[in-house]
Amino acid sequence: MTAAIYAIGIGSNRRGRHGSPVAEVRAAIATLGTVIARSPVITSAPLGPSIRRFANAVVLIETMESPLALLDRLKAIEVAFGRRRGQRWGARVIDLDILLWSGGVWRDDRLTVPHAGLRTRSFVLTPLATIAPAWRDPVSGRTMRQLAHAVDRPRARP
Ligand code: ATP
Ligand code: CA
Ligand code: CA
Repeated sequence: MTAAIYAIGIGSNRRGRHGSPVAEVRAAIATLGTVIARSPVITSAPLGPSIRRFANAVVLIETMESPLALLDRLKAIEVAFGRRRGQRWGARVIDLDILLWSGGVWRDDRLTVPHAGLRTRSFVLTPLATIAPAWRDPVSGRTMRQLAHAVDRPRARP
């Protein structure tokens, strides 16, 4: 067995016991295990019908866990941080998404990797391009650097 590398997206738009959304994101990163690269924590305008601002970061972790085992652990961390069910798009203390996996593509009922929103979200691609610029999306064949440029300059897209 060899270790896998995953890119994890961390988001918060609600205060929790660690404090502000930025503090929640930092606290969540500290629970993830072996973090081999981390972006700065950025704040950005919300996506969807939420009125709150988000704090976001992206990290690379190294782990022996399979994609589904990691998903289960991330969900347990979300619950431990006080996230309740049914809060999609709404206010939540922490959201942990699997963005990329060194094993490539995973698709089943519970999990799609690369994450379905990867190619269209600048709050994911901008930090990813700083820590994993040469990582190639196995679906589009484009690197994180290329995807970040494309999302920042939509009209430059082919
Ligand atoms: P989005 O996925 O668009 O960012 P969200 O993060 O708010 O929205 P959640 O309510 O956190 O959505 O997750 C809904 C479900 O998505 C999870 O229960 C999980 O089973 C599934 N899921 C599918 N692919 C992934 C992935 N790559 N990372 C995390 N969860 C995923
Ligand atoms: Ca999400
Ligand atoms: Ca999620």
